Amino acid sequence: RIRVHGLEKSFGDQKVLRGIDFESRRGTSTVLLGPSGSGKTTVLRSLNVLDTPDRGVIGIDDVEVDFATLPAGKAGRRESNRLRAQSGMVFQAHNLFPHRTVLENIVEGPVVAQGRPREEAVADARVLLDQVGLGDRGDAYPFQLSGGQQQRVGIARALALKPRVVLFDEPTSALDPELVGEVLAVIKDLATQDWTTVIVTHEIRFAEQVADHVLFLDGGVIVEQGPSAQVIGDPVEDRTRRFLKRIL
Ligand code: ATP
Repeated sequence: RIRVHGLEKSFGDQKVLRGIDFESRRGTSTVLLGPSGSGKTTVLRSLNVLDTPDRGVIGIDDVEVDFATLPAGKAGRRESNRLRAQSGMVFQAHNLFPHRTVLENIVEGPVVAQGRPREEAVADARVLLDQVGLGDRGDAYPFQLSGGQQQRVGIARALALKPRVVLFDEPTSALDPELVGEVLAVIKDLATQDWTTVIVTHEIRFAEQVADHVLFLDGGVIVEQGPSAQVIGDPVEDRTRRFLKRIL
């Protein structure tokens, strides 16, 4: 379960998030839509504490951080790290280690960062590779794979850390059009399983199919939120309507 309350963030004197509130239940998919610069990525990066909010509360399952009262220094970092460990991020570009095999890329995090036994991590990685449709490519190097396959390895790598929540930041926007479908299919597959996901995407048809909950952001606020059938299918707010009309 994700709880976000009163999230605010500025970069210099530009206020990028102006009080974001939403909740996501376990096992659901939340999609963030909105024009370029509306703050979608900043919300996602805040959940993973890659950006530190100025104010607001973020809770993921039993870890909650109030950023207004986050202590400076080591104590604050410890709290941030606990929250960060609750989520795994899939970026636009996968950034796999180029000189390591697919399997080694996936096993690295669980073994090095989480101290899990290697054999166990390898066995889990093989299951995950199967799940993303790359069961036979564990010994390949990233350069031997297509962009879509590399991105699917990136997804397996995020899942290997067993996060409570998986965050996707425009996971297909760096791909050639013909490779988008295979990556979206994998994400859709996860979303229909038990994973809790938060997805920033411009693929509106995909959003419609996969989202339980849609947030429409504009100018650092949530203009409208609700089930996808409502927000995408029958939006109430003018700003949402105009945005959808532009991209559909
Ligand atoms: P897009 O769809 O184009 O990715 P977005 O809705 O994800 O946009 P954000 O990436 O969250 O928007 O950015 C919101 C605003 O914050 C933008 O104006 C951006 O330039 C600014 N911004 C984001 N990160 C930083 C940063 N590290 N330093 C300065 N400004 C930033």
